[in-house]
Amino acid sequence: MRNFYVDLHVHLGSNWRGAPIKITASPQMTLERILVEARERKGLDIVGIVDTLGPSVQEELHHLCLKNILQELPGGGLRHKNGITLILGGELETREGAHFITYLPNLDCLKGFAKAVSPFITNMNLSTQRAGFSLQRLMSMADAYGGVVIPAHAFTPHKGVYGCAVRRLGELFPAGLPPSLVGIELGLSSDTSMADRIAETHQLTFLSNSDAHSLGKLAREYNIICCRGASYEELMAAITCTNGRKVVANYGLEPQLGKYYRSYCSACGYLAQEKGPVISCPRCDSDQVVLGVRDRIDSIADWARPRSPEGRPPYIYQVPLEFIPGVGPRTLARLLAAFGTEMNVLHKTSLRELIQVLGEKIARRIVRARKGELPINPGGGGKYGKVLT
Ligand SMILES: [Zn+2]
Ligand SMILES: [Zn+2]
Repeated sequence: MRNFYVDLHVHLGSNWRGAPIKITASPQMTLERILVEARERKGLDIVGIVDTLGPSVQEELHHLCLKNILQELPGGGLRHKNGITLILGGELETREGAHFITYLPNLDCLKGFAKAVSPFITNMNLSTQRAGFSLQRLMSMADAYGGVVIPAHAFTPHKGVYGCAVRRLGELFPAGLPPSLVGIELGLSSDTSMADRIAETHQLTFLSNSDAHSLGKLAREYNIICCRGASYEELMAAITCTNGRKVVANYGLEPQLGKYYRSYCSACGYLAQEKGPVISCPRCDSDQVVLGVRDRIDSIADWARPRSPEGRPPYIYQVPLEFIPGVGPRTLARLLAAFGTEMNVLHKTSLRELIQVLGEKIARRIVRARKGELPINPGGGGKYGKVLT
């Protein structure tokens, strides 16, 4: 068994004819560009694209298979000729008002599942559409096609299930969380220690994915899994901790850098600084507050401190290079030319190697960012946090 780098939440901006798929994603996010960028610049082994339900995307996938650019794997997933594995997925909003991603093993299952959900969705060609069914219903439809459902960005105020719909997933399953609910995506503004303050998450695997809407943001969060190969079956075995397969580490943003870390008052523009939970504005008293993930977890947690279950993998912070002051597109290009992938720069290169390419000031910043030593102005209300120097 060996380690694989995995990012399971990537959006598709447009299809091969240039028509929009996920409206808010960059039109440069085409299937082929994602697969090339994810492999060659980011160094990923598995990428999950969450906008593949539409007929035009399915058509494109079939076309790429016919041309042998993609190949369906016996264990599920599609292998690009550059070596990366594509996992098929669809992000939908259920009746609960939250986003869930369904991952599917192959094109036949994708087709069947898409057909099953299409009567409940107004426009199948666009992504992250509102569907008129419950999470339970979604899970049983996914199950019928070998699929697995994962709550997306679970704690964010914008369509995260804990963030805006329920205080406990158990509220949606009176008989207890079903075994088919295997994991949750933490989202950019939270991490393992925050999520492990809620007892019921102990039976769920945590995933850290980028939710990338543009190429540069691919792999800003990712997972390392240990398994036998980069296929759908092996991935699911890792997520469910089966037969020795497992998620060995989550890599992600320091939550304070996320867009929804603290509460933000949309009436007066105040970003909470006081001890949480802040649920109304301390400055103008308004209750028009975009709840921060920190504030939400503070208000619903079972425990004041995290109690991680045994075997919970470590959560390792990474400050994406674009967040580091002084690293612009030109510096980034120089780094990639020297060290191959962003992951090498972020985690593997030594200070001395960095200094040779960048000069001392920025090289030291990258190393301090690695150690979590750079001070941060927290994000909130849809605005990223900022790294200070
Ligand atoms: Zn979403
Ligand atoms: Zn206010």
